[in-house]
Amino acid sequence: MLKINNLTAHYGAAQALFGVDLEIGKGETVALVGANGAGKSTLLKCLMGLLKPSAGQISLNGKDVTTTNPAQMVRLGMALSPEGREVFAHLSVLENLQLGAIPLKLAKAEAATRIAEVFSRFPKLEERQEQLAGTLSGGEQQMLAMGRALMAKPDILLLDEPSLGLAPLITDEIFAIIHQLARAGTTILLVEQNAARALSASDKAYLLANGKVIEQGESSRLLNDPILRSAFLGAASDADPASSRLGASGLTNIRLEKNAMQKNFMPNFADEAELQQHQLAGLQWTVRHAYEGSAEYRKKLEQAEIAPAAIQSLDDLQKLPFTTAADLSDGYPFPLRSVPFEQIVRVHASSGTTGKRKVFCYTQKDLDDWTDFFARCYQMAGVNSLDRVQVAVGYGVWTAGMGFQLGCEKVGALAVPVGPGNIDMQIQFLLDFQSTVFCSTASMALLMAEEIHKRGVADQIAVKKIIYGSERSSRSMRKKISELFGGAELFDITGLTELYGPGTGIECSEHDCIHYWGDYYLLEILDPETLQPVPEGEWGEMVVTTLCKEGAPLIRYRTRDITRIIPGRCECGSILPRHSRIKGRSDDTIKFRGVNIYPSSIDTILSAVPGIGSEYQIHLTRDKAGRDNLRLLVERAEGVDSKRSPELSREVTHQIKKQLLVSVELELIDYATLPRSERKSQRVFDQRIEDEIV
Ligand code: ZN
Repeated sequence: MLKINNLTAHYGAAQALFGVDLEIGKGETVALVGANGAGKSTLLKCLMGLLKPSAGQISLNGKDVTTTNPAQMVRLGMALSPEGREVFAHLSVLENLQLGAIPLKLAKAEAATRIAEVFSRFPKLEERQEQLAGTLSGGEQQMLAMGRALMAKPDILLLDEPSLGLAPLITDEIFAIIHQLARAGTTILLVEQNAARALSASDKAYLLANGKVIEQGESSRLLNDPILRSAFLGAASDADPASSRLGASGLTNIRLEKNAMQKNFMPNFADEAELQQHQLAGLQWTVRHAYEGSAEYRKKLEQAEIAPAAIQSLDDLQKLPFTTAADLSDGYPFPLRSVPFEQIVRVHASSGTTGKRKVFCYTQKDLDDWTDFFARCYQMAGVNSLDRVQVAVGYGVWTAGMGFQLGCEKVGALAVPVGPGNIDMQIQFLLDFQSTVFCSTASMALLMAEEIHKRGVADQIAVKKIIYGSERSSRSMRKKISELFGGAELFDITGLTELYGPGTGIECSEHDCIHYWGDYYLLEILDPETLQPVPEGEWGEMVVTTLCKEGAPLIRYRTRDITRIIPGRCECGSILPRHSRIKGRSDDTIKFRGVNIYPSSIDTILSAVPGIGSEYQIHLTRDKAGRDNLRLLVERAEGVDSKRSPELSREVTHQIKKQLLVSVELELIDYATLPRSERKSQRVFDQRIEDEIV
């Protein structure tokens, strides 16, 4: 939309700009960051036609506008909210706004419409419309300056130092408005000395020093790059702020000085070989630890005739016996426990609907490790200490809420621990707290997206990223969530209670894989029938072995999740290995509205109702609104009259609701209508995901 080529400008003999190149696309928010005297204002003056460049070219929507005058620039779609506001102190708020439209020579009715639009965006200005601009507070004057620029309905809004001289609270308010304008599709060039604020509010940025662009790129990258941070963002140290270029101008941002922000949670391996060395040491430790600490593991290892000393290479992993869900229920209430009780600081359990819950013991080190790699998830998704993370997953005995919470605090972000459900409160907090990250299950994210759409508040919220997990999601579902959330970026996070909890891997910014934490666990992909490794890149069951888990280590634990390894290094540059998004389960477990249902529990319920046969089918579908439906087809027992159907139907529905806590649609059919087969017949038909998953 706006393109600047090799722009040079002078004030008399003094050169202020040296061949600046800059580009702004439609709908983008671009930050121009630099200290006082770096050339930012000069560049804006050139853009607005207030200063004639000595060389170079400015084009707007493909048209050369290098020597256009200011009034023409406004007509061509550029408006400036100048540094120092420059409101007319002796005119009223309303009169100041009217001035903004003068170059356009608008009809009265159109001018009135635009004033009404500005008032709806800045309710404070409406309250004070008769007041003289000189009596407004600094923040209100800033709003007036922005409102006046918006009167021209510009294609590009230039904001020169909107936060200058404002208290932090007012700055927050101004930036919230800038964010809303951006969400509403306004193209913005934001010129700021407050680098951290500018970078966190923009898509891309140019760092200007001494009249030259010295760095440019995606704002999130610039914000997180440690070298750039120390050079430009005043993050050198609290004690020596002047050691950075912006710090020297007193332009540091306190929130960026949080220690956690400096910490890198990515592992430090030079190459794959170094990672493998770490993995082998971890595997050897784990087998010995399990053998010495757990009677169950010792028995298994002895039965398999493997001594801990036999583990000499990563290939020896295949000699080890498997651990399965049955081992977990056999060992209830503290399965696989490998440390004395005095070292256990917490238990978590998974939500199961049949049999005993899976319970896991954690030592303090386990919790610290989990917190660290969860922080890594946030870091990989580009979440930092300026973010506000609304956690809408379950807190309590299951691991989800706790993991999201600890990791969030570890990266120094602000956590809003709402928990699941409660849509009204979720929306209220998205609006009031301006949460920038939303964490939930995929179906909750969809539900929220639709609610945001229904209430028409997409341009009033600030969510940039959605981290979702625990359910399969299709491409179309992801697309819909992102769109209704006003263009938020989605990150699929993986994890299971057996393996600490959520956060054992996450999608990166390339969005075509899950990076998993190969420094905390080994991942094998096996054929679920033969239990032999599948060729690299093929789908199979994910089997995991932990490398440093103390409380309840896992040795070749069969997760039943189906995925595949993606060979090679990712485009994003991370050394961490990758797998595809989880495709499904190798057993028949159904995930329905957040509840795990084992078909065997349906068996149990049906067989307890006299008059019901043993054959049934489960059909899962998803309606247009994204809600899952479960239709259960059940045969009556042999010789049972169809007149009894209503009564039987009521009883079965009631029992399912009571025992599984879900509502199903039930259809009773004649005996022997469903197909029989000698082998295990297919009972579950899941049609919820129609398109490709990965
Ligand atoms: Zn990647």
